[in-house]
Amino acid sequence: MTVLPRPSILSIEPYVGGESKLPGVNRIVKLSSNEGAFGPPPAAVEAITQAALKAHRYPDGGATALREAIGAHWGLDPARIVCGNGSDELIGHLCLAYGGEGTEIIMSAYGFMMYDIAGRYAGSRVLKVAERGGLADVDAMLAAVGPRTRIVFLTNPNNPTGALLPEAEMRRLRAGLRGDILLVIDSAYAEYVTEPSYDPGTALADATDNTIMLRTFSKIFGLGGMRIGWGYGAPAIIETLNRVRGPFNVASASQAAAIGALAEPGWVAKGAAHNTEWRAKVAAAFTAAGFTVAPSQTNFLMVDFGSPEAAKAVDATMKARGLILRGLGGYGLPACLRVTIGNAEECQMVIDAITAHRG
Ligand SMILES: *Cc1c(COP(=O)(O)O)cnc(C)c1O
Repeated sequence: MTVLPRPSILSIEPYVGGESKLPGVNRIVKLSSNEGAFGPPPAAVEAITQAALKAHRYPDGGATALREAIGAHWGLDPARIVCGNGSDELIGHLCLAYGGEGTEIIMSAYGFMMYDIAGRYAGSRVLKVAERGGLADVDAMLAAVGPRTRIVFLTNPNNPTGALLPEAEMRRLRAGLRGDILLVIDSAYAEYVTEPSYDPGTALADATDNTIMLRTFSKIFGLGGMRIGWGYGAPAIIETLNRVRGPFNVASASQAAAIGALAEPGWVAKGAAHNTEWRAKVAAAFTAAGFTVAPSQTNFLMVDFGSPEAAKAVDATMKARGLILRGLGGYGLPACLRVTIGNAEECQMVIDAITAHRG
């Protein structure tokens, strides 16, 4: 006899994060996890340092000051916001609270792996619906809905493709779903989007009582290591998450860091402008080298090299120069690699590497 978890746990493939080490290479440039290009905001570092002096105190369990700062920054009602230990934590709680044995969760084929992990953990059946052109296929998702469907996850812009689903499509998806199905709009890359008509999900989260928008401080705000995410939605959904989350789920230093990041003058504008400029340059270099770059509204590019062998060869070229990209075999895209837009020097290293590459 031995201890065994529930059978659904055994079907979970553990999350494999972006690589961060290369044996024998001195200088590593990690472009595998879509982290912000400029490190943490200085005001966040200062806030973390100050928070260290009060590390013996429990955090504010309601993250009141942080929710107020988020509300002020984005013009949202703090009462409709919940903070999490990364948006990962909120994804997990949503699946446990709204899914569970006998239910189904729908995501798009290449959507964020955490939905699959959290959904299975909850005991739900997770249906992966084929995408079209790197985008969630709204008709196919609606066709996959059955009586047991409880949650639909949508990443917009999409990871790992970088593609943006038009606002009208997002609304059509919500309109086509039953009222008792929670729509989760994960907008982790919202700050990088340049498409003027884009709405990160705020409008739907305002207009409906069954939609939640998820956001993170892990990307443009440069605080992935502090684990801060947040959700915005109808009071009943926020109340549900407040019931089930750990009472002190966001560390005090993390709350302080996020407040500091929001106060850093010009941080988002600078990061977004840099990203738009260098995303175009890096994309042009891959295109000039004969590869297919998916249009991106994020801080990463997905490049299709035509075959798994060609992708491996490019990966080897990059690794020889200390550049770590993200292989997408785990996403069922072995012919593709994903590369994060780093700082100017890092981007130039990628451009030089792909320009010198011979397949
Ligand atoms: C990076 C990312 C997140 C952020 O997760 P955190 O737990 O907040 O770090 C969420 N969703 C997607 C699709 C992502 O790519």
